[in-house]
Amino acid sequence: GSSVEVDPGVEIDEEIEDEDLLGGLKIDSTADIEVPDRLVDQVIGQDEARDIIIKAAKQRRHVMMIGSPGTGKSMLAKAMSQLLPKEDLQDVLVYHNPDDGNAPKVRTVPAGKGDQIIDAHKEEARKRNQMRSILMWIIIAIIVVYAIIARQILLGILAAGIIWLIFRYTSRGIDAMVPNMIVNNGEQRTAPFEDATGAHAGALLGDVRHDPFQSGGMETPSHDRVEPGSIHKSNKGVLFVDEINTLDVRTQQKLMTAIQEGEFAITGQSERSSGAMVQTEPVPCDFIMIAAGNLDAMENMHPALRSRIKGYGYEVYMDDTIEDTPEMRRKYARFIAQEIERDGRLPHFTRDAVEEVILEAKRRAGRKEHLTLLFRNLGGLVRVAGDIARAEDTEFTTRDHVLQAKGRSRSIEQQLADDYIERRKDYELQVNEGGVEGRVNGLAVMGEDSGIMLPVMAEIAPTQGGGKVIATGQLKEMAEESVQNVSAIIKKFSDVDLSEKDVHIQFVQAGQQGVDGDSASITVATAVISALEDIPIDQSVAMTGSLSVRGDVLPVGGVTHKIEAAAKAGCTKVIIPKTNEQDVMIEDEYKDMIEIIPCDNISEVLDVALMGEPQKDSLVDRLKSITGSALDKSGPG
Ligand code: ADP
Repeated sequence: GSSVEVDPGVEIDEEIEDEDLLGGLKIDSTADIEVPDRLVDQVIGQDEARDIIIKAAKQRRHVMMIGSPGTGKSMLAKAMSQLLPKEDLQDVLVYHNPDDGNAPKVRTVPAGKGDQIIDAHKEEARKRNQMRSILMWIIIAIIVVYAIIARQILLGILAAGIIWLIFRYTSRGIDAMVPNMIVNNGEQRTAPFEDATGAHAGALLGDVRHDPFQSGGMETPSHDRVEPGSIHKSNKGVLFVDEINTLDVRTQQKLMTAIQEGEFAITGQSERSSGAMVQTEPVPCDFIMIAAGNLDAMENMHPALRSRIKGYGYEVYMDDTIEDTPEMRRKYARFIAQEIERDGRLPHFTRDAVEEVILEAKRRAGRKEHLTLLFRNLGGLVRVAGDIARAEDTEFTTRDHVLQAKGRSRSIEQQLADDYIERRKDYELQVNEGGVEGRVNGLAVMGEDSGIMLPVMAEIAPTQGGGKVIATGQLKEMAEESVQNVSAIIKKFSDVDLSEKDVHIQFVQAGQQGVDGDSASITVATAVISALEDIPIDQSVAMTGSLSVRGDVLPVGGVTHKIEAAAKAGCTKVIIPKTNEQDVMIEDEYKDMIEIIPCDNISEVLDVALMGEPQKDSLVDRLKSITGSALDKSGPG
């Protein structure tokens, strides 16, 4: 809606708007950027989620948010709490029940009233105690006087002592009259926001503390041991639960009851504690629930709870990337200003520094003309860069600080991959020169954002019967499939029938965890053809790409990271699918290290990768005539 559109608050140079990395923003540093007051206006991208939050706040509906971590789910939930009316807020008091000590009474009053009530009770208790002490001392005085007159001093002291004890003991009963305020909204300036992510049952649903002294005048009255849960503290506000599926099923069921009833009695959660004997009257818990998680989380969530939220609310997906426009870039500059304001200690970013962050946002999107919306990570980069600047005591955070920060804020996978590359260099497992038959430098992605070189070796041997593909580990299936695809192609140009051979495929660094080998099928195919035809492969070439039965090279994920990995490993050329060309966003330092060769077809791949001119040329020529459209016409086999 238009009510949430934000003006960046600074001038824009419309002439250079389109080429400028800052979208034409006329600023010297982020100090010139105004940050909107309301959280909902600070949210960047996620227009749909934001509109839904605004709508749901008006209608008091629950919302389910599905998406990657760090895209603004909890930010939006918090923003929603700022949109809710503050007038509805309540204080909740728990009173001693004179009829049943284990069933404390619950009273709800408008916010701010609770403090007054407690004060009044305390004042009354104080007065009563004062009256009682006056009364006590009068009685003691009378006893003492009487004892002196009757010359029974000892008896008098004894009687006075007993009176004193009786008064002491019963005064606790008066203190017990003071209620326990479990929800205090007196000072609250917006509706409450409670993040119950990963909360245990007690923290979510409320609890009654254990009392080690259960009798004998030492006990704490049960109403004083009552503690509210997030569901009660978020009354009239927002309850946010991320990774909702990690709540155990019983807790999810209780949460559902709480949503249905709008109130939920508090009882001790651990069964053997004295708290478990106590159960209060129902305590209001009229919250708006925002449940979040990734797609898996939704599937593992209690179905009844999910349909409850869905039936009475909205479901919304969070975007991971957004189209790169001048307006968006201006917002990304504002994002940096927001993070600086939130942190409170980081030096403002210079223009250059902002540009570098925006470049990184482009790069991390892994998609042409897009920017990443994974803001938590991007915010991490901003903070690390700012911290470096702070350590150097400079007035501004500069581009150089951002570049340093990029080196430091590498993910665990990236660090692992780098470490791995180093170690392999030591052992000379890495080959990046010369020619070797049947060996290809493949590329894979580890984790989400780390490339790694994954060499593949193929060997062909006469079969012991029935031609098999022999591969090991988790990549076996992929190996079998790519050999199958390549054998359809081989049949067309070679006399060798692969079904009469055993093809051994070895992944040199097998055993590495978390390697996604799905995209290695041109690698396997190239290794097999090289082994079959005895033509060496240029080891300064690395490659990634998927192979179709027709010989087309199909697009794969993570090309940018893969190219960088190849460069780091010392390769000088890298083959990628032509259809991935637009996804390449490698950093400048790699641009001179490696030549990127986009290929459409396996014949082009072999043209680059194979060595030894005469055999290679004839092979590539034969392949060219039969793959692609030519192969298509004659059918794959
Ligand atoms: P999630 O709940 O989706 O894991 P958060 O809302 O906790 O992510 O985001 C973490 C931080 O990243 C936020 O506090 C905010 O600083 C920043 N952030 C996340 N998403 C956005 C967004 N869409 N716009 C602006 N800042 C964002």
